[in-house]
Amino acid sequence: MDDNTQDFKTGDIADYRSAYRQEFIAPTYKGNMHLAFTSGMSLLIIAICIFNLDQPTWLEWMTVPLTFVYANFAEWAGHKNVMHKPVKGLGLIYRRHSLQHHRFFTHQHMPVDSTQDYKAVLFPPILVTFFLVAFFLPMALLTQWVFGANAALLMVVTGVAYFLNYELLHFSYHLPNNHWVHHIPGFEKLKALHTTHHDQRVMAHKNFNITYPIADYVMKTWKR
Ligand SMILES: [Zn+2]
Ligand SMILES: [Zn+2]
Repeated sequence: MDDNTQDFKTGDIADYRSAYRQEFIAPTYKGNMHLAFTSGMSLLIIAICIFNLDQPTWLEWMTVPLTFVYANFAEWAGHKNVMHKPVKGLGLIYRRHSLQHHRFFTHQHMPVDSTQDYKAVLFPPILVTFFLVAFFLPMALLTQWVFGANAALLMVVTGVAYFLNYELLHFSYHLPNNHWVHHIPGFEKLKALHTTHHDQRVMAHKNFNITYPIADYVMKTWKR
């Protein structure tokens, strides 16, 4: 059976969702607490870094656009090559994304049913912590060593803000259709790209940017 290419009908979605909830969502799980953890951790790191900045020069400020573009391509590459292809040692990420997230939500069934379902959207807190420690810490130390403290702090601020933006946008794409986020200018256009990505027939080929489709446009994987 190929989980990746099947198109699931309404009944299948309902069955899969209840099986997923049984297996992965503990009754004590609180979706709002999960969201608060991701947002709180990210905002705390951003605030500490901004507080420690010491009058950056314009050259040091250039870290912000450079990190943004780097993050956009990293998002594209990670989604395409790790989340949609089983990579040795990172199989958990593939399973969570391709085999679970993409079965829980299809282009015809994008919204969550309750706050419990946030579990199927947000990165688990343990992965967030791992991501921050294993990815940002060495990057920050390297940047500090080569370009100085201000550049390292601005890199972390931009990178963590980008990650939080990714999580909040993706989360919002899966909120109910009558939610106020849909009134934010441009939101519907971005959501439409992710909805297309949730079509099981194109998910492994198109719209790998969850945020802004810059890398998708450059790499020609953009689909309206
Ligand atoms: Zn999604
Ligand atoms: Zn995907």
